[in-house]
Amino acid sequence: MTSIFWFRQDLRLADNAAWSAACARGPVVPVYILDETNSPRLGAASRWWLHHSLAALAQSLGGLVLRRGDAHAELDALLKEVRADAVFWSRVYEPGAIARDASIKAALKARGVDVQSFNTALMHEPATLKTGAGEPYKVFTPFWRAVQRTPLAAPSPAPKHELAAPPKSDALEDWRLLPRQPNWAAAWPTFWSPGERGAQHRLDDFVEGALRGYSAKRDRPDLAHTSRLSPHLHFGEISPRQISAVAHRALAVGDASQADVDTLLKELGWRDFSAHLLFHFPALPERNWRPSFDAYPWRNNSAECEAWKRGRTGYPYIDAGMRELWATGWMHNRVRMGVASFLVKHLRIDWREGAAWFWDTLVDADLANNSASWQWVAGSGADAAPYFRVFNPIEQGRKFDPDGAYVRQWIPELARLPPRYIHSPFEAPADVLEAAGVRLGETYPAPIVDHASARTAALAGYEATKRASD
Ligand code: FAD
Repeated sequence: MTSIFWFRQDLRLADNAAWSAACARGPVVPVYILDETNSPRLGAASRWWLHHSLAALAQSLGGLVLRRGDAHAELDALLKEVRADAVFWSRVYEPGAIARDASIKAALKARGVDVQSFNTALMHEPATLKTGAGEPYKVFTPFWRAVQRTPLAAPSPAPKHELAAPPKSDALEDWRLLPRQPNWAAAWPTFWSPGERGAQHRLDDFVEGALRGYSAKRDRPDLAHTSRLSPHLHFGEISPRQISAVAHRALAVGDASQADVDTLLKELGWRDFSAHLLFHFPALPERNWRPSFDAYPWRNNSAECEAWKRGRTGYPYIDAGMRELWATGWMHNRVRMGVASFLVKHLRIDWREGAAWFWDTLVDADLANNSASWQWVAGSGADAAPYFRVFNPIEQGRKFDPDGAYVRQWIPELARLPPRYIHSPFEAPADVLEAAGVRLGETYPAPIVDHASARTAALAGYEATKRASD
């Protein structure tokens, strides 16, 4: 009785109910299918991560079958080749995957194949949570209260597994997921260890170090006080239950406070909330959740968009974030909010342009989190930040990076500026700039927009959305 296990966004063996169920049934053929017919196509940073995560998974398993193409056709072929009579997978909550999986499930079941799918990614599945009125949640706080009503089960260990005789497989190298010419990710192995073991190490490091104080310091990009588990979570190399269990152990032995653990779980709650929004509003990646934002007069300014992408806006806090993203494939959450706000409000460029850049460059690019977060910042989303609250990029820098250590790390050409001017070099007197070796417009750009007038223009644009909703 051979089963096929179809790995997708659950690239781990422990606390994976789908994998445990397949292993309990007998010999398994584990497969990963690179299905590029299923939108959206993976971004470049995600492809880097996927390559390394699959290599790690293949090593832990002792063999992983790789196939490329339409998932339905590949599964059909594999079922015949290995004479399997069952297929197992973990559910993915993205609209394209839901439609594809439903049709595969129906077709296989009609042929008598035993198909079983499980939730291994979220604390609570989107379809199971409804408001008292039977509606999907649109506001985070009541959603989170509802999620907390059901305690999380303890995570399960990796089961023993027996692999069936392997059929032919692609070679991972042939998929060319890694960048070449130039290899812009050459330094990434110093930042990241994709795979289940890397995820566990990351969690252990976080719990031994930065979890204590997380609730107070998680907003400080200069202090590195967050878990950086997001890419591991996206690819399913670790589960929220595993994180919760380890955090609670730290709490029990006094290595973290109740506030630290509660705040961490709440952040995982935002992840569930984004999945909930995407499930119930599948157009979230493309369409404004609030239709009144369809009337917003977005500008189409490719030079300014390019300056934003390259970290050359002349606002150090914004530029540091964009350069961190390019250099590491990740950016601190507080800075993501700042750079997204800058694009949407200061430059009045459509949030979808920013979301697309993040999609290509983030190692944790996630359809639900990325779309929901961009819409949240833009003001067009569910439970969104009010549009009229326009972040001041200078004040944000002073508040969350008070000594400028974060800016100095990512913008070395400003490193010798004193803290007073590190977030606003354009306000520094000429002698201060000269002493720091900064020549505005030459070694570092002058601001591409003026904050005060950009704010006024953003609010004028917002009036159009208000008229549209009247
Ligand atoms: P921690 O603070 O350690 O949080 C633990 C985990 O909780 C994270 O790994 C993540 O899975 C989840 N989480 C934390 N904050 C949020 C949040 N606001 N929304 C949803 N989940 C959250 N996150 C992604 O995983 N993928 C994305 O593509 C993504 N795009 C974003 C785009 C914008 C414009 C913004 C403002 C935020 C985006 N986020 C995205 C959310 C958040 O910035 C990252 O999850 C977080 O920075 C990851 O760092 P961490 O693992 O150290 O977080």
